[in-house]
Amino acid sequence: MPTQPAICVATHHTSIHDLLNDAEFLALANRDGCLVELRLDFFDDLSNETFCRALEVFASNGVVTYRHPLEGGKRPGVSDAERLSYLQAAANRGAKYIDIEARTPREGFDKRNSKLILSYHDFEKVPHISTLRDTIWEPMFDLPGVDVVKIALMPLSMADTYHVKSLLNISGSCDGPSTLVLCMGEYGLWTRVLAGVFGAPFTFARGEGAPGTAPGQLTWRELEELYRFREIGPNTPIYGVIGNPIGHSLSPLMHNAALKHLGEPGVYLPFKVDGDPVEFMHAFGEILSGVSVTIPHKEAIQEFCDAVEPAAQKIGAINTLSPIAKKDHENESLTIGWLGSNTDAPASADSLESALGSLDGKHVLVIGAGGAARAVAVGVMERGARVSVLNRTRERAETLARETGATAVSFDDLDALHIDAIVNTTPLGMYPKVDASPLMENQIPKGGLVFDTVYNPLRTKLLDLAAKRGCKTVEGVTMFIRQGVRQFQLWTDKRAPVDVMERVVLEALKKRQK
Ligand code: NAP
Repeated sequence: MPTQPAICVATHHTSIHDLLNDAEFLALANRDGCLVELRLDFFDDLSNETFCRALEVFASNGVVTYRHPLEGGKRPGVSDAERLSYLQAAANRGAKYIDIEARTPREGFDKRNSKLILSYHDFEKVPHISTLRDTIWEPMFDLPGVDVVKIALMPLSMADTYHVKSLLNISGSCDGPSTLVLCMGEYGLWTRVLAGVFGAPFTFARGEGAPGTAPGQLTWRELEELYRFREIGPNTPIYGVIGNPIGHSLSPLMHNAALKHLGEPGVYLPFKVDGDPVEFMHAFGEILSGVSVTIPHKEAIQEFCDAVEPAAQKIGAINTLSPIAKKDHENESLTIGWLGSNTDAPASADSLESALGSLDGKHVLVIGAGGAARAVAVGVMERGARVSVLNRTRERAETLARETGATAVSFDDLDALHIDAIVNTTPLGMYPKVDASPLMENQIPKGGLVFDTVYNPLRTKLLDLAAKRGCKTVEGVTMFIRQGVRQFQLWTDKRAPVDVMERVVLEALKKRQK
């Protein structure tokens, strides 16, 4: 039975005195499931007295390292022998782990009761899988006395991490030292959070408000509370969102909060996919239980799907992938395939219905003719609404109208149209251009309903103008939450905790707007 991995929090202090006065790290030294990494090369003063005081407090839960200058160490003038002498002193004083780079000569080093981490760091790239496996990982893995092989790499694209996943697949099935492979930066976030899936003994994190010792380190609290790191193991369902950029996405916050609230096993991750999303799914599909798809991959991902729901086909965009059983005709057996669907469409219709009642026979004006406009048009037409489309570029409105059964209109037609609801699907009014609006006040029919799909800011200029005209208003965040609710239900077959999802998203958006 594998033990749950620990969270190793890296110190960033340049003086042991500061570290010994840091309440967060003093508490972490005694926190269950936590380790503290002492970076000896960071400290200005390593006199015997201060060093011994640091070890008294941190050794029993400590990972002690004196990083080699060629692998990110901060003391270029210090010899290998001197670095090793400090590490030997740490082992003598009962350090839990000693981390030594594979390149550092270790003659005469006695790890005593400590565990030995043999490490390799590349802050510039991820080597090719054959180099990674045959010349980096295997030689370290085969050495006697090694308890953990740690490899830290810098991916320059998501595709670089596919090598890492192949290595983790291999290492997970080998007896011998445990392997910890961490990828730095945004592309590597999954390697930090999913340490428990691949049998690593710990992952690295930073203190709260601390800069961290490697790009992309999460705080230990984010790992514990947002990602529920301690509950993640080889059988934990993994969900995620693929897109680029992805750092701003509120989906991880929303889905993880929902899973946690229901006590459902599972973790939801942001995957920054800069290349082909189909390639990503070929590399990661086997470990995923559900995927949200966002800009710019909503169209290209169709090629990966084994089946696409009719509404998503009509929209020409997929925002959700769910696993389905698929027949393997060669072996006459069932395998896992992927269904593509679009939850933006029903979510937009749900949002309108919540304020307007049944959409049957209602006339909806959609402003914009991009992906969101298509989803809204198809979503509300499926509930019986009639749709007119108004767009800056008339031809795009006409194309959308032709392909969905809507009608293209222009600004001059507005007075003659009897509209029940207006939906803005252009980015006008979105932060930072919050003073923009797709309609002027006098163009908004009095007393109707206006729904703005923009949700940053929560209250847009258009909604304020609509309120002045006595209209009911619906905020875009309603649609965002509802599309997530539908995804959650598709993947877990559980009723989504809508209130919880709404609360965390609203809190985050309000914080961003401060
Ligand atoms: P898109 O495919 O790029 O389409 C943008 C549309 O807005 C196009 O029709 C474009 O007109 C029009 N437009 C852009 N800038 C304009 C301007 N300055 N003046 C007039 N029209 C302008 O984008 P999308 O994927 O549909 O997304 C659009 C917005 O929808 C996003 O910004 C987002 O806020 C919102 N959205 C919200 C949710 C939600 O859950 N609430 C979900 C998805 C999208 P042209 O055809 O003339 O270029």
